[in-house]
Amino acid sequence: MKSVSYRSSRTKKVSNKGTPKLNAPAAGDNIGNGLRNKWPNTAKEMDDMLGVPGRNVPDGPKTPGRGKVVWEPNKNTKIIYEQHLYHRNAPDFHKKPHWHLDTPGNSHQRYLPGENIPGQTFRLK
Ligand SMILES: [Zn+2]
Repeated sequence: MKSVSYRSSRTKKVSNKGTPKLNAPAAGDNIGNGLRNKWPNTAKEMDDMLGVPGRNVPDGPKTPGRGKVVWEPNKNTKIIYEQHLYHRNAPDFHKKPHWHLDTPGNSHQRYLPGENIPGQTFRLK
């Protein structure tokens, strides 16, 4: 299986003259002062950011390889990490690991590793 990294375009050096360098922080980068505000690449990094381990949800017969992990850091917030490799015709962002965020009035928002976490910064442990 070919290993594809969606981080590669982010870290690639851009040589075009006149084009600003891509220097946005990658997932997991420290943004200064020990704070982080990007969705991480792995469930383990989220454990570290929240300071509590996520709850592993076993794959079902129709969801092999989903690898779902759930965090509920407070009663209004639910964070899900998963991937849907079994949806063969789905776009990459669905088949690769991604995050969902449930907050009151905003259910099941979807984010990719490296995107900003809305309204949040986490102090690194
Ligand atoms: Zn999903």
